[in-house]
Amino acid sequence: CKCCSKQIEDKFLLKINEDCYHETCMLCDVCGCSLNGSCFIRDNQLLCKLDYE
Ligand SMILES: [Zn+2]
Ligand SMILES: [Zn+2]
Repeated sequence: CKCCSKQIEDKFLLKINEDCYHETCMLCDVCGCSLNGSCFIRDNQLLCKLDYE
């Protein structure tokens, strides 16, 4: 996981480009909220729906 540097053993992983994340580690780069599997990417930043819009 790129976020916490731990190995991802469960099946709830998300792969974005070449980076893997735990689903629970994915946080919005702007507001820090949990993305819960629905994330948006702009300029290499993970964003929640609100911040993306
Ligand atoms: Zn993680
Ligand atoms: Zn956000």
